[in-house]
Amino acid sequence: MTTQTHSFQAETARLLNLVATALYSEREVFLRELISNASDACDKRRFLAQQQADLLDADASLKILIAANRDAGTLAITDGGIGMDHDDLMANLGTIAKSGTADFAAAMAESKDASSLIGQFGVGFYSAFMVADRVTVDTRKAGTENAFRWESTGDGSFTITDIDGAETPIGTTIVLHLKGDAHEFLEAYRLQALVRLYADHMTFPVSLLSEDGEAEQINEAQALWLRPKAEITDEQHKAFYNHVAGTFDEPWETLHLNLEGQLEYTALLYLPTQRPFDLFQPERRCQIKLFVRRVFITDDAPELLPAYLRFVQGLIDSQDLPLNISREMLQNAPQLQVMNRQLTKRVLSTLAKRKKDDPEGYDQFWEAFGAVLKEGLYEDRDRGEDILPLVRFKSTTQDGLTDLDGYLGRMKEGQTQIFYATGESEASILASPHLEGFRDRGLEVLIAADAVDAFWIPTTGAYDGKFFVSITHGAADLSAFAADAGVDAETDGTYGKADTGAEATDPGELIAWLKTRFDQDVADIRPTDRLADSPACFVASENSMDMQLSKILKASGQDAGAVQRVLEINPRHPLVASLATEISSAPGSTRAEQVADLLFDMALVVEGEAPRNPGTFAKSLAQVLDGALKG
Ligand code: ADP
Repeated sequence: MTTQTHSFQAETARLLNLVATALYSEREVFLRELISNASDACDKRRFLAQQQADLLDADASLKILIAANRDAGTLAITDGGIGMDHDDLMANLGTIAKSGTADFAAAMAESKDASSLIGQFGVGFYSAFMVADRVTVDTRKAGTENAFRWESTGDGSFTITDIDGAETPIGTTIVLHLKGDAHEFLEAYRLQALVRLYADHMTFPVSLLSEDGEAEQINEAQALWLRPKAEITDEQHKAFYNHVAGTFDEPWETLHLNLEGQLEYTALLYLPTQRPFDLFQPERRCQIKLFVRRVFITDDAPELLPAYLRFVQGLIDSQDLPLNISREMLQNAPQLQVMNRQLTKRVLSTLAKRKKDDPEGYDQFWEAFGAVLKEGLYEDRDRGEDILPLVRFKSTTQDGLTDLDGYLGRMKEGQTQIFYATGESEASILASPHLEGFRDRGLEVLIAADAVDAFWIPTTGAYDGKFFVSITHGAADLSAFAADAGVDAETDGTYGKADTGAEATDPGELIAWLKTRFDQDVADIRPTDRLADSPACFVASENSMDMQLSKILKASGQDAGAVQRVLEINPRHPLVASLATEISSAPGSTRAEQVADLLFDMALVVEGEAPRNPGTFAKSLAQVLDGALKG
């Protein structure tokens, strides 16, 4: 018998320390995690046995047994699952490898208050150390002769010892040496209640061994999704959802579908309440598990749902696919494409119904997953009609969220376009000078602050025949709307007619002069009525990309090409008026040049960019301010 001692990977050691010391109010979840792992291990063994029959003598061993020993203060969880060999133990129980636990580690690295995170994540196997000060794992992998014992007190290192393979059945037994304050988990009534809660939906029998050696099966061991819909309780759905998704939240919506016809399959899908941490990580894909006639096949079948529905959890169980289907076959299986189409349609129609019946609940969903769903608007253009009505926005005139139909209903007389503003955040959009003229005229502008908005809105183009118009892109003709929020102006084509008071300067001469100065820097310079309190701003030229889109592309390392910018000036602003007077009365004035440069750089600053030459900008500004104080 040889024993080797190994150190935990640094992240794991930190996690273990946290788990062991955190005062965690619901520490009974360790049992959920361990039974869940045992059930997964049984799934894997049954799947492998499809290809290699000798890996499973009979379905009889695919079960889970829980035994408490009061005298020893131990709790043992035994499964007849796939088991682990030496390499598996090193990889699985020495490091933080994947799924929930890896996300936890990532979140932990970012968060200052890591202990509050435990409640949001399953920490998997390591949660055993919430209740145990020593854990042993005896295991033998299906198809191998050698068995091993993994052991740790959860403090930095673990050992792996060879044990007698002939004496160790295939599968895994985890023994928890319970901490002094965790002996409640030896009580039969407590265990029964917990096992019922966590294992009821499981496909494999879960039994509790009583003190006198009798095994009592606690769950029905019938796949939850095959039970009649009406008989499944909300608690069972929650427990099952938590098991398949590795989460702790409630399902926000449950879809239990029995589909027949071209293909026969059952789908049990859950839409989560909480946004998972990895939702926007590039490797995050569809999470749906694939079963064939109750046998777990894979949780890596991204073909089942489009990427913009990657928050959906659950499984599908097919009657038609072959049990020995390979990854390559899955990729091209026409059946999966059919399922993908049908399920996508069902999910979207469920969302539409929920939006109508329960707008507040829908808002909650939207806050968590709206940004992902919107990806569908450019990835799956055919579904645009189904997705667009689901989209919610904040807007400059509404409290809470609105949708496009709501916007159309509030459009002003004569308004033919849907105005929207893209930007880095809601706050930066609301502070943007581009909004001033719209605000003054009571024109509603949709706030498009998600990165994805800069992509889908331009590609979508229009809704219900009304074009989307970015307020930072191209010219804005607001002359048809009066500035005193409400009454439409009579227009006679005079520039600036619609404004409240300030006389508009004739900007012709000023603009000609500015053009000679900034010819190299901008595509055009023109007057605008989109501004009210600000003297100038930049917009993207009609023929060029939106500024926000270009920023996003650049940030992600893509070559966006330069945006052609137009400098727009506000002919009703006093500074612009004074500048116009200065250049006509004192041609060649260096003061005018200085002010024009400041005006240009200030417009850059508003865009979140640095002035062309920050040093010169600061000196120049100081000079002008000094002059203002003295003057
Ligand atoms: P997760 O289940 O999220 O992957 P865990 O920490 O719970 O994370 O488990 C890590 C890995 O250890 C599992 O993915 C699995 O490969 C292995 N494992 C855990 N428990 C068992 C078991 N009872 N039988 C076989 N393998 C197991």
